[in-house]
Amino acid sequence: MPLSKAEGLVLSGIKFGETSKIITLYTKELGKLKLMVKGARNPRRRLASTLQFLSHIGVVFYLKESRELQFLSQAHLINPFWEIKGDLDRFLTASAGAEFISRLQIGQESHPDLFMLLMDFLGMVGNIGYQSLKTLLTSFLLQASQLLGYGPSLSRCIHCKREMLNGEKGNLLFSPEGGGVVCTGCARGNGYYLKPSADLVRTLRVLSSGLGKVDEAGSGNFDFKDAYQLLSPFWEYYAPGYRSLKSLDVWREVKDGQEK
Ligand SMILES: [Zn+2]
Repeated sequence: MPLSKAEGLVLSGIKFGETSKIITLYTKELGKLKLMVKGARNPRRRLASTLQFLSHIGVVFYLKESRELQFLSQAHLINPFWEIKGDLDRFLTASAGAEFISRLQIGQESHPDLFMLLMDFLGMVGNIGYQSLKTLLTSFLLQASQLLGYGPSLSRCIHCKREMLNGEKGNLLFSPEGGGVVCTGCARGNGYYLKPSADLVRTLRVLSSGLGKVDEAGSGNFDFKDAYQLLSPFWEYYAPGYRSLKSLDVWREVKDGQEK
């Protein structure tokens, strides 16, 4: 059986049998890759720390294309992202991004742009100011969604294609099912619309154009909850495999606990 190489981010790991583990990686070369790691929990193999959730690793494995589960031969650490793992807010931000990728139905096709976006995101999560973490997460989610072919339409009406953000004030209409903003002329009386503020839509549009736009979006005014309440129902329609992100629930519980 041929040996193959890949690099990827550890998205999850589950125990298998007495000493083994099955890990899922998001790789640059092969999209999502599931690997059986025999003896992963055997201390002599020293693999446990390498295969941690949110570690960027290089792997050598036996590839059999007809099989969904491949077998690991060797693994080495490329970037453990310690700065993320040592801090709860940073860890939960990174977890939410990884969870998004983890849940979506992405096959074994190579998508180097998405992999690079994920790496850039994690690099920034480790360094950016706390007040910008959720803005950064939103920017990542929007761009990942765009790269996978289901970015929401945030500037033009989904029906008549009229440019919507020229000086618009107040609330806009957004159709999760239609995939974006809708002008009042095209809105249907029986349609289901969310009503985001024009400012929120404008900010999301900026955030969808690059992780480097987080400062421009002005974290002070950005309300992540509003953004997520708008985008989550949209992803439910358009992103196969999407479910609301558990990491965000954990984050909320932690914050509530701290405030008590
Ligand atoms: Zn229209």
